[in-house]
Amino acid sequence: MAIERTLAILKPDCVRKQKIGEVLRRIQEAGFEIQAMKMLTMSKAEAEGFYAVHEDKPFFDDLTDFMSSGPCVPVVLEKENAIADFRDLIGATDPDEAAEGTIRSDFAGSIQENIVHGSDSPANGQKETAYFFAEHEIVANQ
Ligand code: ADP
Ligand code: MG
Repeated sequence: MAIERTLAILKPDCVRKQKIGEVLRRIQEAGFEIQAMKMLTMSKAEAEGFYAVHEDKPFFDDLTDFMSSGPCVPVVLEKENAIADFRDLIGATDPDEAAEGTIRSDFAGSIQENIVHGSDSPANGQKETAYFFAEHEIVANQ
């Protein structure tokens, strides 16, 4: 299996619930290496840009309101098979369908406010990383 990078975001609900430490602990214990991290509040337009793939969905306006509602923590993670393994760690989009012991099952309040984002392919991992981080902000490149 190849070493991959995925872009995680600890979403505004994770920050509000004071779960940054707990979620990062689980991520690190699962073997992911943190390559970059920052805290910021997305503007509505930035959230719309990040989730542009969902612009035709009925939940797009609510989702981008939520994602721009307060600080979030984008994190670049590296690991063998990072994309699939991270999606396994966080669980299904809807916390009611997420497997027991996953981050979303344990902490998410709803299908929208589901604590954490994870990229769905290596190509999107790269694209989403570039949305938040310059090359020189990723420790492996320093
Ligand atoms: P994932 O984050 O698991 O990859 P999607 O890419 O399908 O899920 O959706 C992006 C985000 O949009 C989800 O994480 C969630 O915050 C929100 N979302 C997805 N589906 C719904 C829905 N049916 N109703 C409300 N919000 C949704
Ligand atoms: Mg997705």
